[in-house]
Amino acid sequence: MLSPDLLSLPFFDDEHRAFAGRLAAWAEREVPGLVDHHDVDGSCRRLVAAMGEAGVLKACVDGSQGGLREGLDVRTLCIARATLAYVDGLADFAFAMQGLGTGPISLFGTPGQKAAACPSVREGTAIAAFALSEPDAGSDVAAMATTATRVAGGWRIDGEKTWISNGGIADRYVVFARTGEVPGARGISAFIVPAATPGLTIAERIDVIAPHPLARLRFDDCVVPEDALLGRPGQGFAIAMATLDVFRSTVAAAALGMGNRALHEATRRALGRQMFGAPLADLQLTQASLADSVAELEASALLIFRAAYEKDRGKPRITKEAAIAKMVATENAQKVIDRAIQVFGGLGVKKGEKVEELYREIRALRIYEGATEVQKIVIARAHLSQFQN
Ligand SMILES: Cc1cc2nc3c(=O)[nH]c(=O)nc-3n(C[C@H](O)[C@H](O)[C@H](O)COP(=O)(O)OP(=O)(O)OC[C@H]3O[C@@H](n4cnc5c(N)ncnc54)[C@H](O)[C@@H]3O)c2cc1C
Repeated sequence: MLSPDLLSLPFFDDEHRAFAGRLAAWAEREVPGLVDHHDVDGSCRRLVAAMGEAGVLKACVDGSQGGLREGLDVRTLCIARATLAYVDGLADFAFAMQGLGTGPISLFGTPGQKAAACPSVREGTAIAAFALSEPDAGSDVAAMATTATRVAGGWRIDGEKTWISNGGIADRYVVFARTGEVPGARGISAFIVPAATPGLTIAERIDVIAPHPLARLRFDDCVVPEDALLGRPGQGFAIAMATLDVFRSTVAAAALGMGNRALHEATRRALGRQMFGAPLADLQLTQASLADSVAELEASALLIFRAAYEKDRGKPRITKEAAIAKMVATENAQKVIDRAIQVFGGLGVKKGEKVEELYREIRALRIYEGATEVQKIVIARAHLSQFQN
């Protein structure tokens, strides 16, 4: 949940404030009944359907496709992720993937491609996925080996993608593959691939410490029609980077939501736990721990909404701002959650405790959509370039 103090800042308008209030009430009321962490596929399907019905997924699509605003409003996406992640990591995941999986289509699709993909995503009747990473091309996207070769009437995709969120339950994947116009990053293109396309198979379901639907995909002679191509041949890397430019700040927002929840849990525990004849919260070392967490979360929030605000007000790229927000917010949230566990003592590591769940949930956010080290490189390059011209 985002604080009224934060939402009163001029980064936001009244529509944002109203959306935050409506979503927080909906999430607290509905999400617990939809999530079963032992059935992540079923949970994600239920969450997507319910979010579609409640109109929450309008935030994930272009305004021209029934979205809330023109284009993708990054502040709304960030508010949604911070709010949902506060309640449950899987709810955040289900929401985020509808946005990320459709982001390339919203940003680069033709009117026909948008009309074919966006309504079902908005209504929660189709599940979306974004397939960029490969076994030997994670941080180094340009090392991609999956190929797309021109054939009569379309393209044939061959290769492998891994760590694909919603892999196994998605109805549609945006797949990046090498088309070879030039070597390296500029020889990659993006394609819309329905899950039922012959030649696309789920090679492996991947189990991770905070379970959610995740898979390795195989493409063997997987033929898609000409109009599956998004943008121009060779534009795939630019499409991926522009999409991540929008969604990186939202990963930071999810981390903020998890950190806020951990601080809330730690504070209640510190106030309620009696120790040495007084509440744990009376001890100054506890207060120092809480103070560090408050300050780190507020700093994260300002960086996230600075990046989102800049994008929404028309700055073409927010690469540096988004990288700073993602790096600081995910690293801070990890520290805040770790401190919360410490406040809980033994109970903090007991399976089923909220802070134990958050400790597992936060970890991958420091890795996906660019690990912290990758963000550092992005930030340093942007900084150095100011001195090099
Ligand atoms: C839970 C989860 C969900 C994911 N969902 C998706 C998805 O939906 N779609 C998708 O395409 N991908 C997805 N990914 C993949 C994710 O984007 C990659 O894991 C990430 O880009 C890192 O790639 P890698 O795992 O191959 O690690 P590697 O590229 O092998 O990197 C390993 C480590 O090297 C370090 N490193 C990287 N670059 C540098 C550098 N320049 N200098 C020093 N150190 C460096 C970092 O610490 C990094 O963690 C997901 C991953 C996870 C864990």
